[in-house]
Amino acid sequence: MARPAKAPGRSTAPRQATAPRPADALSGDSLAEAGDARIAWASAQMPVLDQIRARFAAARPLAGVRVGACLHITAETANLVRTLVFGGAEVALCAANPLSTQDDVAAALAERHGAAVYGRRGEDPAQLTAHVDTVIATSPQVVIDDGADLVAGVHERGSQLAEQLIGATEETTAGLLRVRAMEAQGVLRCPVMAVNESSAERSFNDYYGTGQSTVDGILRATNLLLAGRTFVVFGYGFTGRGIALRARGAGASVVVCEVDPLRALEARMAGYEVMPSLAAAAVGDVFVTVTGGRDVIGAEHFQRMKDGAVLANAGHFDVEISLPALHSLATGRQRVLPLVEQYTLSDGRRLNLLADGRVVNLAAGDGHPAAVMDISFAIQALCVERLVSAPAGFSPGVIGVPAEIDGAVARLKLDSLGIEIDELTDAQRDYLSAWEQPLR
Ligand code: SAH
Repeated sequence: MARPAKAPGRSTAPRQATAPRPADALSGDSLAEAGDARIAWASAQMPVLDQIRARFAAARPLAGVRVGACLHITAETANLVRTLVFGGAEVALCAANPLSTQDDVAAALAERHGAAVYGRRGEDPAQLTAHVDTVIATSPQVVIDDGADLVAGVHERGSQLAEQLIGATEETTAGLLRVRAMEAQGVLRCPVMAVNESSAERSFNDYYGTGQSTVDGILRATNLLLAGRTFVVFGYGFTGRGIALRARGAGASVVVCEVDPLRALEARMAGYEVMPSLAAAAVGDVFVTVTGGRDVIGAEHFQRMKDGAVLANAGHFDVEISLPALHSLATGRQRVLPLVEQYTLSDGRRLNLLADGRVVNLAAGDGHPAAVMDISFAIQALCVERLVSAPAGFSPGVIGVPAEIDGAVARLKLDSLGIEIDELTDAQRDYLSAWEQPLR
C-alpha cells in the first residue's frame, strides 16, 4: 500500500506523537493509533534519539532536505524518521524487505508524522521494487539504505540522479558488500557512510541486536524448547557470534560452520563445536544462516538432515537457504503454522522453513529491540546531519563513520543509563602519547 504523507507540503512543523494510550490502541480504534502506541513504546527505549530529536527540532539542520530511506518499517525506524522530520527533512520511506513492515507503524508514520511511506507487509517483489522506484523518483538528496537498494537504484538510473546525491548511509553488511562492489567497478558517485561498521553499531547492533532478535524470531515462529537441542550457526561473523551466544544461553549445544580459519578458531575457543556444514547437517535440530553469501544450505544438506529440522535465515537476502533446491527435493509442502512451511521429502522426512527463508529476526519477530536501534539510529541521524552540513567534505566512496559520532552516541547512551566513567589525567594522556625512553 502506498501511503504518501497526508500533508503534501510537509512544511508545517510536524506535531508530536500523541501520548501513548496502550489499552485503547491495542483494542484498535484504527491502524494508525495502534502504530502510534507501538512507536511511543519503542521511543521510551530510545533516549539518545530522543535527545537528538529535541536538538533537531530547535536547530532544523535538515530544513528542506529530501531524504529517501529504504529500511525495515518498524517502530524503531519510525522514531528515526520522526527525528529527521523534526530536523526539517522531507522523508520518503520504502521497505527493505517484503516481510518486515509493521503495517500499523507505516499507517501512523504517514498519517501522523509527516512522512511518505510506501510499503505493506507481504508485498510481492514487484511491488517492493516499484516502491523503491517511487522513492527514487522523489530525487532524494540523502539516502539511508539497509541493503543498498536505493543507492544501487539511483546509480542504475543514470548519472544525473546520482550526482545530486549529497551522500548516503548504509545500515547493513549486505548493503556494504554491494556498495563496495560499485566502488571497485568505479561507478559509485557519492560518499556512503558505513554505519554498519561503526564501532558502536558493531558492538551492539550485530552482537546483542541480532543475537537476541534472531533467537526471538525462531521461538516466536515455533515455540521450540532450545535446551538440549543442537543449534547450528552458519557464519561466525559479528552477527553469528551473537546468535551462537544467545542459543547457548537458552541451553542449546551450538555448532558453528565457517570458511574462515581464524573465525573458525575463535568459535572453537569460545567453546562451540566446529565442523563442516555437511557433518553439521546430520546432527542439527535448528539451522541458522548468517553468512551474507548464497546457497549456504543446499540439496546435499537437506538430504542429510533429521526429520523435523528447522531452517532459518538471518542474512539480508533470502538466498542463503537454497529454496529452489528445497522445492525440487520436496514431494509435498504445507503451511503448518503461520510462519512455518513444512517440506516433506520422498523418504517422509519433514523440514520446517521459517518465514519463507527471509530475515527471520524481522520477518518472524519485531527486529532488534529499540534499546539497540537507539544506538544505530542515533548514528544514522548524526551521519545524515554530517553529510548535509559538509557537502564538500566527503569524496565519493565508502567512508567510515566519523569517530566523534561514535563517541558522542556512546556517551549519550551512558548518560541515559546514569553511568559515569573516569577520565584520563593529563599525565596519563601524556604517557600514552610518548615514545622516547624512559617509558617505565
Ligand atoms: N547488522 C547485521 C544484521 C542485522 S539485522 C548485519 O549487517 O549483518 C539486519 C538489519 O536490520 C540491520 O541493518 C539492522 O540494523 C536492521 N534492523 C534490525 N532490527 C530493526 C528494527 N527493529 N527496526 C529497523 N531496522 C532493524
